[in-house]
Amino acid sequence: MLSPYVGRFAPTPSGYLHFGSLLAAVASYLDARQHQGQWLVRIEDLDTPRNLPGASEHILRTLDAYGLHWDGEIIYQSERLPLYQQVIDHWLETGQAYHCDCSRRTLLQHGGAYPGTCRERHLPAAPDHAVRVRVADQPVVFRDRLQGEFQQTADGLSGDFIIRRRDGIIAYQLAVVVDDIAHRVTDIVRGADLLDSTPRQLWLYQLLQQPAPRYLHVPLVMREDGEKLSKRLGSTPLEPRLATATLHRALTVLAQEPPPELADAPVDEQLAWAVAHWQPQRLPAKRQIPEPRT
Ligand code: GLU
Repeated sequence: MLSPYVGRFAPTPSGYLHFGSLLAAVASYLDARQHQGQWLVRIEDLDTPRNLPGASEHILRTLDAYGLHWDGEIIYQSERLPLYQQVIDHWLETGQAYHCDCSRRTLLQHGGAYPGTCRERHLPAAPDHAVRVRVADQPVVFRDRLQGEFQQTADGLSGDFIIRRRDGIIAYQLAVVVDDIAHRVTDIVRGADLLDSTPRQLWLYQLLQQPAPRYLHVPLVMREDGEKLSKRLGSTPLEPRLATATLHRALTVLAQEPPPELADAPVDEQLAWAVAHWQPQRLPAKRQIPEPRT
């Protein structure tokens, strides 16, 4: 039994907090608080070339202005590099992981899943080698609390996947699992764009012999032109001063049906109502929903 409940919000500071990421933050916050659980915030700042200066501060300031107060210290992945490296070194030693020098061009020629080119080559460590973890030839299946059963084959896992990139940057798939285990996260509530990553992450839980968390993947808000609201696309950063109205809109989009009169209430009051009335089963069980009109 996984307990006690620990949830988290793990934004990447490649952009400011926008409405799409607010939905994930609010959903994971409400779920944690309704379970009287902890809610952690972790800044996923490993991909340094993509970090936008000032984005972490904006994200944290905005969460605060929306009443989404976290527990404990903020966790910065950039301060945890030795932990990830330890796992990689261990797997290199046991043969669970290996170095790979395939160029982007070679990989593109294959298309699809990695064919295992470097699996038995026993390449030595070199600054421009990636590190891949071996995956077994068996499907990974899990049940999402909202999206239902989800299954992926080894191909769907993209074959032996990268855990350290050629540029030395630790891959998201590895860091997220190492951290969620380290912080005893029991419940992951996040955007449905990460549904496809979940089987790879579950595979790493298996390798690390740790119990898997529960998952709830919240639908993504799409713009009318079908584009995902993404930080990189420059979707409008949220303004702390509009928090009251925007939070009410977020609760509406999350299908929680907040009473209209709550629209002018301070954020803490709105959140208190929303925690008491949180019904995740009301969320649309889809990967995508259209952006609401204002
Ligand atoms: N850092 C990821 C993102 O901002 C989220 C990771 C996660 O929730 O697992 O998309």
